[in-house]
Amino acid sequence: MSILHGRKQVGDLVLETDVVVVGSGAGGAVVAAELADAGQRVIVVEEGPYHTPEAMGAMKPSESLRHVWRAASMTAAVGIGNSPVINVMMGRCVGGSSVVTGGVCFRIPEQVLARWSGEMGLSELTPQGLEPHFEAVERAIHVETVPADMRSRSTTLFGAGAKRLGFELSPIRRNTHKCRGRSKCNFVCPHGAKRSVDVTYLPRAAKAGTRILADALVDQVLLAGDRAVGISGALLDETGRRRSSLTIAARRVVLAAGAWHTPIILRDSGIGRASRQVGRNMTLHPSVRVVGEFDELVDGWEGAMQSAFTDALQKDRLTLMSIFVPQSILGATMPGAGPEFMRKAGRIRHLAIFGGMVHDEGGGRLWRGFGREPVVTYRMAPQDRAALSKLIRVLAEAYLAAGARKVYLPVFGLEGVDAAGLKALDFDRLPGRKIECTSQHPLGTCRMGVDPKTSVVDPDGETWDVRELYIADGSILPTSLGVNPQVGVMAMAARIAWKLRDRKLPDRR
Ligand SMILES: Cc1cc2nc3c(=O)[nH]c(=O)nc-3n(C[C@H](O)[C@H](O)[C@H](O)COP(=O)(O)OP(=O)(O)OC[C@H]3O[C@@H](n4cnc5c(N)ncnc54)[C@H](O)[C@@H]3O)c2cc1C
Ligand code: SF4
Repeated sequence: MSILHGRKQVGDLVLETDVVVVGSGAGGAVVAAELADAGQRVIVVEEGPYHTPEAMGAMKPSESLRHVWRAASMTAAVGIGNSPVINVMMGRCVGGSSVVTGGVCFRIPEQVLARWSGEMGLSELTPQGLEPHFEAVERAIHVETVPADMRSRSTTLFGAGAKRLGFELSPIRRNTHKCRGRSKCNFVCPHGAKRSVDVTYLPRAAKAGTRILADALVDQVLLAGDRAVGISGALLDETGRRRSSLTIAARRVVLAAGAWHTPIILRDSGIGRASRQVGRNMTLHPSVRVVGEFDELVDGWEGAMQSAFTDALQKDRLTLMSIFVPQSILGATMPGAGPEFMRKAGRIRHLAIFGGMVHDEGGGRLWRGFGREPVVTYRMAPQDRAALSKLIRVLAEAYLAAGARKVYLPVFGLEGVDAAGLKALDFDRLPGRKIECTSQHPLGTCRMGVDPKTSVVDPDGETWDVRELYIADGSILPTSLGVNPQVGVMAMAARIAWKLRDRKLPDRR
């Protein structure tokens, strides 16, 4: 795939095109491929660097954190009130967060679409309305069911405990082909088995003539009256510092910089002030994991990193899901120091891990920071905080029911506990800041709606305030999903792209 590297460009860069797509992740890649296939001239602008799949696959997890992840995974939402601080992870490279996913694929659940199309008035967003888009995306990224024999021992132990508690695991679907099961997906698949957009949609877009510009940060949308006519920004060096300017004149602009960054571009362009909705309504799917320590050898990294889930606790707004991390990361994140740390690290082969997420109501808000990254605050709704307590308890109970001698809970400063120790804990009373919480799914900061007073884009993805400016990433999702969002984000992007294929491009300015 031919890439224009901003770091190698000499001097300022001025380009012209039909459509400029900002961001090369799950949403942006889909739009670029669909529009290029329809004969439109497309440029994709990506802040992060480009690495070939082979180079990324050969990186150690610590190198991958530095070169492929945003801010080495140190971005966080600051908890307000009794909310935990939430470590929010994202990709920053050609392919965006798609490159670092666990590969888990879910369609947007029917009950979520019922809310969007009913209560929220987005009448086209029904299972039938989105069916062709889901199908096209699933075909393009090769979504397949993870066979039961790919489940790790870590997962089968959890499944056995869950069964004793009265619920069963179901297989997950993932965007993989010839997966060998090595649990390294979040640090880029070493075998090219994960069909992320850098090996699917972007090569397709490039083949159809799309120019992909890496190391290029978009600051603003250029406007002529109430119409978008291009973007301006900067070319970056290897360290992410600005080295020269970038201007692209375009007949149409599509923002797909993700829910964490698209709102910053809008704000810096002075767009969306009237509704005061830009950067609000962020949902995160707050997630935790629990570690079970068993007498037997588990070697939890043998198997697909994510292979099974359960929605049995959907009424509690919880989804439980298998997960694992490479040994080096597991070792590095174990608590303690000195001989005590060595003792714990020596038990790594006996550890099993399972996680889960809360189908949250929102409470995230994005503020302009002084530097590149925004400041994000998150006030967890009381019912979500209660759901988080329940999630930790049920994960721990399942491993104890499966015979774990101890469970390690996502609570800072707490040592492993047995069944009696777990019973004595009251998670509802625990200060939020003591809970170790993560998110891989920021969504909703430029939500779609039918009313310009309460949303940022209309039902076709065009911003209410500026014509020919569209958004096609996780920021337009009107609520959280309760399941991993990549297929939902891509299907929504495909829907917008298909509308744009048929919508006449405006004349050049
Ligand atoms: C560790 C991890 C694991 C995940 N696992 C799963 C999973 O298993 N299943 C699942 O469904 N989902 C998963 N997700 C979530 C999924 O990856 C995201 O929901 C999805 O990629 C969001 O798509 P997007 O287009 O909104 O943003 P992204 O894919 O993040 O793409 C946004 C891109 O825009 C670029 N950008 C930002 N600002 C600018 C700017 N100003 N100028 C130019 N470029 C810019 C970014 O660098 C990035 O490349 C995971 C995410 C992470 C981080
Ligand atoms: S489990 Fe291993 S082989 Fe399969 S997609 Fe993930 S990293 Fe690649």
